[in-house]
Amino acid sequence: MVLSKGFLKTSVSTTKPDHLSSGLPTLLLVDDEPEIIASLADMYRRSYNVLTASSADEALSVLKKQTVSVIVADQRMPGKTGSELLAEALKIDPDAVRILLTGYADIEAVIQAVNQGKVYFYLTKPWRIDEMDTVITRAIEHNRLLKANRHLVEELRLSNAELEQRVTERTAELEQRAKELEEANRKISELAYLDPLTGVANRRSLEKIFAREVERGVRLGLPITAAMFDIDHFKSVNDTFGHAMGDRVLQFIAQTVSAQARPYDLVARYGGEEFLILMPGISLEQGKTAAERFRASIQAIRIADFPKSVTASFGVACLLPGQPPELLFDRADRALYQAKQNGRNRVKLDIEF
Ligand SMILES: [Mg+2]
Repeated sequence: MVLSKGFLKTSVSTTKPDHLSSGLPTLLLVDDEPEIIASLADMYRRSYNVLTASSADEALSVLKKQTVSVIVADQRMPGKTGSELLAEALKIDPDAVRILLTGYADIEAVIQAVNQGKVYFYLTKPWRIDEMDTVITRAIEHNRLLKANRHLVEELRLSNAELEQRVTERTAELEQRAKELEEANRKISELAYLDPLTGVANRRSLEKIFAREVERGVRLGLPITAAMFDIDHFKSVNDTFGHAMGDRVLQFIAQTVSAQARPYDLVARYGGEEFLILMPGISLEQGKTAAERFRASIQAIRIADFPKSVTASFGVACLLPGQPPELLFDRADRALYQAKQNGRNRVKLDIEF
């Protein structure tokens, strides 16, 4: 995986300063003999930031206060031994590289300390200067690599955390987007108010507009008249001439009736071959006149390749302000049924039977 530069810009900060303002690695020298401390300190003061301690306890209190790169500890000291000190130092800062100075008599204890990982290098007293230089140089380098490695691991951890965070955010974004799409689709289907075959209003939009008109009718004290009509013998049109012709008949009728209707009227396809014309502000008598006009215009339709004339039966009902609106369409439908019963191609009113 390739990480972009932006991912790696997060820096890792250490709580304790690695070295003082000199910018040099820090060397902690621990020995109970002041002469040894003095000579080692003189040797390394130019190359490193040198700290000294004359006992294990003193060294530990230094380690708790600041980070050091390398610890050089004498094995034989009053109180804690050097390997005991380095074992504790390991717990405080595992990156501080631990070097033990020892005499041949202590070699068993030292080997054990090395094997247990408490001591990284050891030097026997008296040491050779070039040997000491090599060991300290290697220890400093080792410490540098440990820190660099830890730094990289930490950067990688942060990058992974950042990536995870981005994945989480992206997932949330996508979920949000999906929700928006769903909402948009819902709106689009709500907007689908037209019957796709005939282009007139569908039943859903009829019901919406009817509810609005009922409210308006009540407010203005106006009636609403509904004329429901059904094409006579439509099944035989489909059966004889095919469904394509049936569809054309429906389209012609929808166009004809729409052209006849006032701008305030709503023509809707109510069912298969059933339509409803909603006429706000129109009384039952006026509705009857209008329905007769619609009926005649349907009968006058001539369709190419269709030899018969089409007729429709109408049922008209009127809703007066304050009457239960939910019954209007049923009342119109009942009147329509009566028109069918009475021989079709006619208009029947809600009160006529
Ligand atoms: Mg000693």
